[in-house]
Amino acid sequence: MSMFTAVEMAPRDPILGINDAFAADTNPSKVNLGVGVYYDDNGKLPLLKCVQTAEAQMMETPKARAYLPMEGFAAYDSAVKSLVFGADSEPVTSGRVVTAQGIGGTGGLKIGADFLKKLTPNAKVMISDPSWDNHRALFAAAGFATESHPYYDAEKRGVNFDGMLASLKAATPGTIVVLHACCHNPTGYDITPAQWDQVVQAVKDGGLTAFLDMAYQGFGHGIKEDGSVIGKFVAAGLNFLVATSFSKSFSLYGERVGALSVLCSSKEEAGRVLSQVKLVIRTNYSNPQIHGATVVANVLNTPELRAQWEQELTEMRERIKAMRAKLVDGLKAAGVKQDMSFITNQIGMFSYSGLNKDQMIRLRSEFGVYGTDSGRMCVAALNSKNIDYVCKAIAAVI
Ligand code: PMP
Repeated sequence: MSMFTAVEMAPRDPILGINDAFAADTNPSKVNLGVGVYYDDNGKLPLLKCVQTAEAQMMETPKARAYLPMEGFAAYDSAVKSLVFGADSEPVTSGRVVTAQGIGGTGGLKIGADFLKKLTPNAKVMISDPSWDNHRALFAAAGFATESHPYYDAEKRGVNFDGMLASLKAATPGTIVVLHACCHNPTGYDITPAQWDQVVQAVKDGGLTAFLDMAYQGFGHGIKEDGSVIGKFVAAGLNFLVATSFSKSFSLYGERVGALSVLCSSKEEAGRVLSQVKLVIRTNYSNPQIHGATVVANVLNTPELRAQWEQELTEMRERIKAMRAKLVDGLKAAGVKQDMSFITNQIGMFSYSGLNKDQMIRLRSEFGVYGTDSGRMCVAALNSKNIDYVCKAIAAVI
């Protein structure tokens, strides 16, 4: 008998569970399209040149590691602010944005969730159906009741925008709405700029709180284009939150670099909000890590390195798009009769393939091609060597 005898085994994370199954698979042709990670055309996790250069420069003048402030590395926070809102934007120049470094995008979401729970303990949190699985879990763990708004329309192969908008309009005032700023995970379908205008209006009219999750800025259409939704919320005069992640855009998954930004009404208000955000951080992990944030800050704040980053990000984005086109062509060539061109209408790392659970299980067991049961595949893990095999495998199960 131990004090832990009654502890039950928690359910396995559905996506990380796929990783384990993939690792155990002995099929030499196996392909992992389960996890949201970008791999280059050789199937390798890239180490960006801008990151290597920044790190080499950092090594030239090694620094002792004091604690960072609770809100993180100042040069990093200010670079994030400029990236998200625009360096010369009114929110930034007026000093009404609070930005705190977070432990990845997940950390940014968690700081925001804990901060909001103290401020509006009875608010509900509305999340798209489907969404990144951790959204629901994270906000529930912060103590919120969560509800869903429709998003994916399987028949239409797109977004059920009418359903989404109706849910937003019917939401209780004060509801926190988690919105994917770009590159919706898991579906790959984004709403149009005109639809965003309607969402912003519904958020404003309904007195809702928008919490934008921007985990893929630069993976859709470009850094500016993907960030443009932020400007719409600013223009509407709203207060809102933004979680940023550099895991994908810098290929710095394991460094855990992210942030939370909160747009306040004034500089004075921002000071009070920052004090509360710091309290959340203090009681969770005191203060964040130095290395990844320094790399990102140095790249974003050094013109040559920044240009190099933008170039490398463009290459990643373009490669994903090329793979989408190859997938559509390859499926056709492999004998798939149905129109699969919806794959090129999707954006970002993922594709909701439309395959059902049984087909996904067959892909895994018969071909060693791993996606999630929902039919989600990570297009960013396709490459010129595995694409034909994947197309043939999909053709065989469709
Ligand atoms: N939000 C979404 C929509 C994501 O897909 C992810 C990463 N899979 C995150 C947040 C978390 O990002 P990070 O790994 O930086 O914590």
